Amino acid sequence: MALIEIDRLTKTYEAADGRPVKAVESVSATIDEGEFISILGPSGCGKSTLMMMLAGLLPATDGRITYAGKVVTSPQPDFGVVFQDPILFPWRSVLQNVMLPGEVRKLKLSLQKERAMAMVKMVGLSGFETKYPNELSGGMQHRVAIARAFTLDPKLIFMDEPFGALDAMTREQMNLELQRISLATGATVIFVTHSIAEAAFLSDRVFVMSGRPSTVQEIVSIDIPRPRRIELMNTDEFGKYVGNLRKLLGSEAEGRHE
Ligand code: ADP
Repeated sequence: MALIEIDRLTKTYEAADGRPVKAVESVSATIDEGEFISILGPSGCGKSTLMMMLAGLLPATDGRITYAGKVVTSPQPDFGVVFQDPILFPWRSVLQNVMLPGEVRKLKLSLQKERAMAMVKMVGLSGFETKYPNELSGGMQHRVAIARAFTLDPKLIFMDEPFGALDAMTREQMNLELQRISLATGATVIFVTHSIAEAAFLSDRVFVMSGRPSTVQEIVSIDIPRPRRIELMNTDEFGKYVGNLRKLLGSEAEGRHE
């Protein structure tokens, strides 16, 4: 049985003038345990809306999601979320920020600390436990956000363009880190991006979203074993995947100017 079943999931917002805005239209798909899935598409096509519904953070207008056989209507304890902005508490140290989910869950202090220390190490920040967010670079702050999301050993991680604000080199490095951490923990990842290369590099499958209608128009499997090395990006094989994704998105972009 698939870990997640998405059945005709639909979201219609109401615009300020009362007009309905169809942000996500009838998306159906299944996701298996341990898969890395990217939701790829141009800005405004409904990626975040789809992710927020899957995470149980936004109610659907129609359709439904099941997770491990149960209908999702709210965030689950074994879900983790990472947003574009790391959203760290400036008055808390690195370790205290990573301990937060354990604190909310009221775990024993020693266990909170033990888990947070392990995650800080996992994201390569050993030695920075007592530093504060304003003493860290942008990339390091994102590592803290990732450590915090993984600290309670989530089965399913949602990430909404988490590296969008980083420079290209840091972003590449964070992609490698994320690949390593997701494989080491066995977590299933649902990752929103508008970068074709990022989606192709990280994913087992890419959900390609179009803006008209706002739905998953195609699911592309990237049949290259993970972990992948950064050099993969220079190969013809990778280039073909990128070309295909670009073509799918390109035809969508043309369609928008009809
Ligand atoms: P993406 O993540 O691909 O950029 P979003 O899911 O944020 O797209 O938005 C999809 C569409 O829904 C856009 O047209 C956006 O303007 C609209 N939208 C998003 N949130 C709301 C809201 N709260 N109320 C009304 N319209 C919204």
